[in-house]
Amino acid sequence: MSDYKLFINGEYTEAASGETFPTTNPATGAKIGDVAKAGKEDAVKAMEAARKAFDEGPWPKMSGKERAEKVRRIAELIGQKSAQFAEMESKDSGGTMRKAQLADVNGAIEAYNWYATCAEGEDTEALPGSPFPPSENYIRYEPYGVTTGIIPFNFPFIMAAWKIAPSIAAGNTCVIKPASLTSITALMLGEVMQEAEIPPGVVNIIAGPGATAGEELAVNPMVDKTAFTGSTEVGKRIMQLASGTVKAVTLELGGKSANIVLPDADLDVAAAGVLFGTFMHNGQVCESGTRALVHRSVYDEFIGMLAERANKMVIGDPLDFATDLGPLVSRSQVETVERYVALGREEVGEPICGGSKPDNLAEGLDRDAFYLPTIFAGVPNSAKIAQEEIFGPVLCVIPFDSDEEAVAIANDSIYGLGGGVWSTDIDRAKKVAHGMQTGTVWINDYHLLSSQRPFGGYKQSGIGRELGIQGYNAYRQIKHVHVNPQTDRGGHMHYAMLSSAL
Ligand code: NAD
Repeated sequence: MSDYKLFINGEYTEAASGETFPTTNPATGAKIGDVAKAGKEDAVKAMEAARKAFDEGPWPKMSGKERAEKVRRIAELIGQKSAQFAEMESKDSGGTMRKAQLADVNGAIEAYNWYATCAEGEDTEALPGSPFPPSENYIRYEPYGVTTGIIPFNFPFIMAAWKIAPSIAAGNTCVIKPASLTSITALMLGEVMQEAEIPPGVVNIIAGPGATAGEELAVNPMVDKTAFTGSTEVGKRIMQLASGTVKAVTLELGGKSANIVLPDADLDVAAAGVLFGTFMHNGQVCESGTRALVHRSVYDEFIGMLAERANKMVIGDPLDFATDLGPLVSRSQVETVERYVALGREEVGEPICGGSKPDNLAEGLDRDAFYLPTIFAGVPNSAKIAQEEIFGPVLCVIPFDSDEEAVAIANDSIYGLGGGVWSTDIDRAKKVAHGMQTGTVWINDYHLLSSQRPFGGYKQSGIGRELGIQGYNAYRQIKHVHVNPQTDRGGHMHYAMLSSAL
């Protein structure tokens, strides 16, 4: 028996195989519970439920306003249970309670409310003018049908919201699969769907391995659109799997974003921003600014500020509100970081701070799951630690001499997801931002994502956009309707293109 079950067709259920897998609190290594382990059979069941709910159920036939009411109810119920969700998100992922409350739970509530607002909008759009007068043309936005959402370990609750909310607000039905390391809060959403009276089959949530349950969600012909957030490597596989039936695909993938400090920046604010941009959630954020590009004229002073402040971060129990950094998501993630830090030592020498697991952690915490914020200075952009996504608390600082060089370094990456520019001259900062090949640039800020603004990647950071009206439209087909009001022969002279005998 599992403690956390799959949510299929409006009901909680064990996996068909009866198999479970344990999930632990990375901060302590203590087991939280057993999770039902979905395989291919469960994924198919979930998709069949979604298919039936779309083809025969009331959901896609409801008006946008009616759906919006239900989606807002989801937001309201999450608000009522916010303490419960935040605590479990922190325990299961190792993220701090501060982040869980401020970013994860509030961000998810914002997402359901935002997409409810989108659903209240028009689903037809008149097209002005006419290429073939007196005919009229308009667009109808329609749901795709069944959408699947596969999400990564780092922000399970908010990522679930970013996949469920736009899908169902637009009239689709969906199946969501969180990552095995952090699946509990997404599974807990089933209860919210029941309380919000979302019809059975409209939202299905399964946890299980990517190689079986996950692949089925991307390949199965029952699916019309698949949205994946995760590593670039798996994203490429998703594209291949989805190509068999030419599914619509949205990919939100990895990053190695540049955070550019121009010489006229307020260094105090920029140093705080660079640290926030890198170490929030221990660098396990796709758009983290893990390459700080710093103008040579302020370079020495700036790296001193970075090291001094990074050393002051409070590392400990993520449930404690005083904690800045908790554990990484798993010991295995720490091992990846250790491998990259060893590589960094070979490539550029000793880091200016960090470079090991922390000492003096409180009793009961698993030291093997923690890692100190680590900064390598004087890193050539060609180094592997500057090119590859580490997904841990490691910052590379790279000097530059001109704005043009900063842009060229920023763009010398296979990724293009986030980025920052720090300057007191906003026009200059905008010029730099416009030169960067990346989906989001913050000027004098970092990490501020909102459901109301589009987010996505250039290059190997992804395809398409989530969030904003663009993210809503990514869950809607565009149907063009041409209306010829002339029902007589005179209105059809263009048939002569084929034959005058028509
Ligand atoms: P991952 O790619 O290993 O796994 C992501 C999800 O895909 C999980 O649910 C996993 O079970 C599933 N999966 C794995 N193999 C699969 C397969 N063959 N078929 C179908 N599904 C499969 O990523 P992760 O380690 O969970 O997360 C970290 C990665 O996610 C980083 O690269 C990070 O940059 C990226 N990420 C991107 C964004 C974004 O918006 N661009 C946001 C968060 C994380």
